[in-house]
Amino acid sequence: MPRIRLTLTGAVQGTGFRPFVHRLAGELGLSGWVRNTAAGVVIEVEGASAEEFRLRLCAECPPAAWIAQLEATQLPPARLSGFKILESEDEDQPVAAILPDLATCPECLAEIRDPDARRFRYPFTNCTRCGPRFTIVESIPYDRPHTTMQGFALCGDCAAEYRDPADRRFHAQPIACPVCGPRLSERLECASEALKSGQIVALKGIGGYQLLVDARNESAVARLRERKSREAKPFAVLAPDLEAVRAVAEVNGEEAGLLESAAAPIVLLRARPDSGLAASVSQGSPWVGVMLPCSPLHHLLLDQFPHPVVATSGNRVGEPICITKGEAEARLRGIADVFLHHDRPIARPCDDSVARARPGGVSLLRRARGYAPLPVWIGGNGLNSCVLAVGGHLKNTVALHLGRQVVLSQHIGDLDTPEARDAFVAAVEDLERLYRRRPEVIACDLHPDYFSTVWAGEQGVLVRPVQHHHAHVAACAAENGLEEPYLGVAWDGTGLGTDGSIWGGEFFLVERGRFTRIGHLRPFFLPGGDAAMREGERPAAGLLHELGETTRFTPLLKTGFQSVKTTSLGRLFDAFAYIGGIAPRNRYEGEAGLRMEAAALAESDDSPYELPVRDWIADWAPMLEEFRRAPSPRRFHATLAGWIARMARRAGVRTVALSGGCFQNDLLTRMAVAALEEAGCRAALHQRVPANDGGLALGQAVLAADERYAPE
Ligand SMILES: [Zn+2]
Ligand SMILES: [Zn+2]
Ligand SMILES: [Zn+2]
Repeated sequence: MPRIRLTLTGAVQGTGFRPFVHRLAGELGLSGWVRNTAAGVVIEVEGASAEEFRLRLCAECPPAAWIAQLEATQLPPARLSGFKILESEDEDQPVAAILPDLATCPECLAEIRDPDARRFRYPFTNCTRCGPRFTIVESIPYDRPHTTMQGFALCGDCAAEYRDPADRRFHAQPIACPVCGPRLSERLECASEALKSGQIVALKGIGGYQLLVDARNESAVARLRERKSREAKPFAVLAPDLEAVRAVAEVNGEEAGLLESAAAPIVLLRARPDSGLAASVSQGSPWVGVMLPCSPLHHLLLDQFPHPVVATSGNRVGEPICITKGEAEARLRGIADVFLHHDRPIARPCDDSVARARPGGVSLLRRARGYAPLPVWIGGNGLNSCVLAVGGHLKNTVALHLGRQVVLSQHIGDLDTPEARDAFVAAVEDLERLYRRRPEVIACDLHPDYFSTVWAGEQGVLVRPVQHHHAHVAACAAENGLEEPYLGVAWDGTGLGTDGSIWGGEFFLVERGRFTRIGHLRPFFLPGGDAAMREGERPAAGLLHELGETTRFTPLLKTGFQSVKTTSLGRLFDAFAYIGGIAPRNRYEGEAGLRMEAAALAESDDSPYELPVRDWIADWAPMLEEFRRAPSPRRFHATLAGWIARMARRAGVRTVALSGGCFQNDLLTRMAVAALEEAGCRAALHQRVPANDGGLALGQAVLAADERYAPE
């Protein structure tokens, strides 16, 4: 029987919502429960008509209730009996209802385009259904005096709307109008004219500054690339509407839904060859990230300049996104030609999120605006001690374990620069202040040199290290409510293993809180430290070295100097991409993998290469031999997917958690899910946090809170 957990936020409490849920579940013969939590309403239903329940919940919801966001998580069957209204969660731990920022709703959009409306062309229009939330809240409860709107006294008209229960702006905390609300520093035309003439505009958006430039203008985009010192990583594109998105990329129904969702993320799409975008936008990548306007300001700007524009974070390389006028003018000088500020302060930096759509769900690559800080509801009995998890080194996020929920911060970034490290510390302090908790335990990665690990050790609080790939798997298991035993698959680029080597192609049997590494890739050596992450030639040389072949890295490999042993699947992708002539190197993280995936999509032969597994170790050597004769990225994908299903069968488990950066690869994920289904197993995928290192903090928090866990 299908079981789903629904987490709803919005105006769903005190509106007769729970009795309605109870009635609907009874009508559909579903078992389960509903509970009010401080973060919203959580419902679990089990039964044949669970999906119908989900649809009717939205369609028939009581008039006073309004659902801002509904997140569905598929769960394994649990044979629940009856349907109960559970007691409200203890409110003395303030897990405040802090919503993510919500993209402009249709009513507000109509208003700003209506010459007779008093908010005609007003860039800060919002209501209870849309507008800024997380990026304006300074403390809880979420009332106007606790937001960055505190300095704007309401005019009579706004005050009347705010007090009128029948109005869409009843208790809309960021309510504003041209008379009393925030203002732009310049006329909007300054920005649209600048775009027309190929200039670079620094625009203060929702969660920080963005750099905008006409995406069709090659010299303008090339200038942005040069000034930002960004060699090859594709730029995201902001398109005025769905029709404009379809002109630059292939868009299916799920992708359209994701683009138009309240989160309005950047969605990774297949680029159209005739997109009309400047070549410098995606530098030959077969993928393009596109988003729709997420605020009235963006809508109004694109009304005046109705073309795709590059929209990239307003930062210098390796630094966090600028949020104040002072920061922007100091750090973006020399990059932007024109600045458009406004006077609504941004409480904390929050980048645009990046996502891929998949059937029935979403795969988050970067979780920030529109998603953070929605908690991940993990159930259980709740904890008394508070755990802070500080994540890894790349794509860092941090998390606070609050009992039955884990709050994961917005994307912070790679912790390489002093500015990024300051942003990390600020994000930790911010979470602790917002939720009024001080951690008794800090969870960190096993890697002693990560900045986050070093920082954890300096706090004078009990530190519990968690192995990198254990954390990946635990994050996936937690958000899917998996019951042990299950098989955890953690495939990524790099993470320190308990044996001192670099792991990344791992299988764990998870039982009674213990992680047993039951299988992995045949190890090979990576010559030359960090350079081996960028140049595919190095992992390729590592593979050939194992086969006794000589390359220009053989002397280095023979001395063992600066060479590390690895079982990384990410590096295997890089090596095969190099050998197959698909991608010589990673000019940005994950480039070779993305190109392998795109190349595989153009093929049709799904027959696997030979991949013998001896003593639970998969030997890539025969596959390499065949691949060198006739490289087929698709068969490479199929081989790896088949390996997962074989391991599941051998381990004798029914449930398999797929985690780690390699599962950002949609084709690999789909093939693995299909192979597992054929083997009678169920695959659990990340649904609400990234499969990459951006999800680590969730897994760290969960494992550090589990007495039984040890990173052995
Ligand atoms: Zn609205
Ligand atoms: Zn007003
Ligand atoms: Zn990882």
